[in-house]
Order: sequence, then C-alpha cells, then structure tokens
Amino acid sequence: MKKITIAIDGFSSCGKSTMAKDLAQEIGYIYIDSGAMYRAVTLYCIQNDLFKPEGIDTETLRKQIDQILITFHLNPQTKRPQTYLNGKNVEKEIRTMEVSSKVSLISTIDFVRQALVAQQQEMGKAKGIVMDGRDIGTTVFPNAELKIFVTASPEIRAQRRYEELKAKGKEVSFEEIFANVKERDYIDQNRTISPLRKADDAILLDNSNLTIEQQKEWLSEQFKKATAQ
Ligand code: C5P
Repeated sequence: MKKITIAIDGFSSCGKSTMAKDLAQEIGYIYIDSGAMYRAVTLYCIQNDLFKPEGIDTETLRKQIDQILITFHLNPQTKRPQTYLNGKNVEKEIRTMEVSSKVSLISTIDFVRQALVAQQQEMGKAKGIVMDGRDIGTTVFPNAELKIFVTASPEIRAQRRYEELKAKGKEVSFEEIFANVKERDYIDQNRTISPLRKADDAILLDNSNLTIEQQKEWLSEQFKKATAQ
C-alpha cells in the first residue's frame, strides 16, 4: 500500500502523542514527537545556562543551534521512542515542569523553528510517518494526506496531565499544571511564526469525552478512509 504522511496537531496535553504513537505502531509507520524536539532544545538551554535573568541568550543559542543533535531511538522493552540529545537519553528530563514552563518561549524563536522544521521535513521525506505537534499540518507537511487537529477543554487537559505526572510519582499541583496549560495555549496561538491553528483541510477532533480506546478507533477509521482514496 502507498505510504502517506499523517500530521496530528493540537493543544498541549490533549493526548495527541498517545494517539499518534498507537497509530504509528498499528500501521508500521515512523512516529516523531516534534514537541520533544522543542523540549530537547529547551533542556539544552537550561543545561548550558542560556536562560539569563534578562531573557534567553539567543546570540549564543544561534551560534550553537547546529550542534544540537536530536534523535529518537526505540526502547527495546516498551517499543516506545526515546528522545536523545547529543547522544544522551533525555526522555525523562524533557518532561519536567521546568522544561514545560520554558519550552513555549524557546519555540517562538525563528532560527530554532527553522532548524527543527528542516530536520522534521528530512525525517518525513520518504513518507510513512506520523508526526505530532503544533504546526505539522500548516508548516512542516502542508501536503500531508491526513491531517488531524485535536482539542479538549483546558480543565480536562490539565486533569489528564496531573494524573499522568502523579502516576509517575511527581509532586505537582493541579493549579500549577492548569496555569501552565493555559499559558502554553496562549503563547502557542499568539506567536508570530507558525502559530498553533487548524489547517483548513484538517479534521477536527474534540476528545474531551472520548476514552483512549474510542479515540484510537476513530483515528484508525480516518487512516483507512485516507488510504482508500
Ligand atoms: O507537544 P508538547 O506539549 O510536548 O510540546 C511542547 C511545546 O513545544 C509546545 O507547548 C509548543 O510551544 C512547542 N511546539 C511547537 N511546535 C511543534 C511542537 C511543539 O511550537 N510542532
């Protein structure tokens, strides 16, 4: 069967990655979490002290952006992709509240987006890819054969994130997560370059009242329709 490109965009913590990963596994496609790439650049900035009291040291980041190598490798046990920053597994470190609270600022920087979009387009050259993010259907793969735009209410998204972090044993407050979700929504929708918006030809999915299983079935159905055409 001819391979296609699948773009899944939407708001923070609305379960995009779960559905994208499951679909990729089911249909044997590559899965790329583009948010993990922005998170890895953010972690790099934290580790290299580029967050200054007066703002981000963009001068230094610009000089170093080509030295930031982000790759994905499958965990042989879980079969889930893990994010590597310059050869080191950073999957856990990029999911902390500190990274979450800084990533949207990093993702407003033009040369960061250019560098990551170029890498993402390279990864998807051969098709057979499911990529999730904020600008995949609008900027990275505007010609993707299947585009989904996922949303859910901010309260529900914050609650899901809260439960996910708590299950991992993290000490977090619901209020802090709710504030972070709303702040990221605002920055992502209002930035100048590639703001978060639904592509005109994307299918809208509000999953506020769907279980993971129902959502999975819905997505499989969309894939079947897209490849039958
Ligand atoms: O998907 P996730 O929540 O991990 O993404 C983290 C952040 O990275 C988002 O809040 C957004 O600011 C940024 N991002 C982006 N463009 C993408 C993916 C993520 O700007 N394609």
